[in-house]
Amino acid sequence: MSTGWQEVGDGVFVRRHAELDLNCGLVVGDGACLVVDTRSHLGEAADLVAAVRAVTPHPWTVVNTHAHYDHCFGNAAFRPAPVWGARGCAPALLATGESQRAAAVAELEATGDRRAADLVRGAPVDPPDHPVDDMAVLDVGGREVVLRFLGRGHTDHDLVVEAETTGEQTVVFAGDLVEEGAPPAFEDSWPAEWPATLGRLHALARGPVVPGHGAVVDAAFVGGQREELLAVLAALREDRLHDGPYPPATMRTAASRLRSR
Ligand SMILES: [Zn+2]
Repeated sequence: MSTGWQEVGDGVFVRRHAELDLNCGLVVGDGACLVVDTRSHLGEAADLVAAVRAVTPHPWTVVNTHAHYDHCFGNAAFRPAPVWGARGCAPALLATGESQRAAAVAELEATGDRRAADLVRGAPVDPPDHPVDDMAVLDVGGREVVLRFLGRGHTDHDLVVEAETTGEQTVVFAGDLVEEGAPPAFEDSWPAEWPATLGRLHALARGPVVPGHGAVVDAAFVGGQREELLAVLAALREDRLHDGPYPPATMRTAASRLRSR
C-alpha cells in the first residue's frame, strides 16, 4: 500500500511517519473507523486524512493518546467527529497548548523548516470532548475497541487503545507510555508511577504493541521497558544518575520530575 499503512492485525493499521518517527493508528470496522492520534498540524493531518480515505470511506471517531502537540494538533482536520481522550487530556492541552506551540515552532525554525513552523503556528488547539475516566468501550462498526487509563506515566493522562483482532489477539496503541528507537520522554512524566502503569499494560498485551514513536513492538518489549524504568527509579533514588539505562540528559529530566513530585 503506497499510503504508508502497515496492517498489524485484521483491519488494524499503523502509519509510521518520518516526522518525529510518530505512529498513528487506524481501526476499520463495518461502516465505521477509528483514528488514533492526529499529528502536529493541519498539513500533516490532511495527509493523514487522505491516507485514511485510501483505506476506508467510513466515518471516523478519533482518540488522542495524550495532549502532546505531535499527537493532537491535527484534531481540527477530523471534526466534527468525536475526539476521545483521558479525563486529564483536554485540561492539559488547554493549559499547555500555547507553550508547546512556542517550543515546537522554535525547534522547527532552528532546523530551517519554516513551512512546518508556520503550520504549527496556525494549528488550532482543539481538545478532546469525550473524556475517559478509567475505561470506555467503543463499538467501531461491530468491533470492540477499549480505551483505558492505566495510571500516570509519560503524562498524567496517557490513554491506551486496545483493539480486538482475530482469536485471542489484540493490538494495543500505547502512545508514549512505550517508546521505541529513543529513550522515553520524561518532561511531563511521573517516574515513580510509570513502571506500575507499564506493568498493567504488559499484563493486557496479547499481540502487537504500537508505541507512540518507532517500530511496532510486543509485550516482551513492554516488560523490558518497565525494567528500564525501574532501573531509572533506583538510580535516581540512590543519586546514581550516571548509572541509569538512558543518556545523562534523559536521566537529569527524570530526576527533576521525581524531585518535583
Ligand atoms: Zn508525548
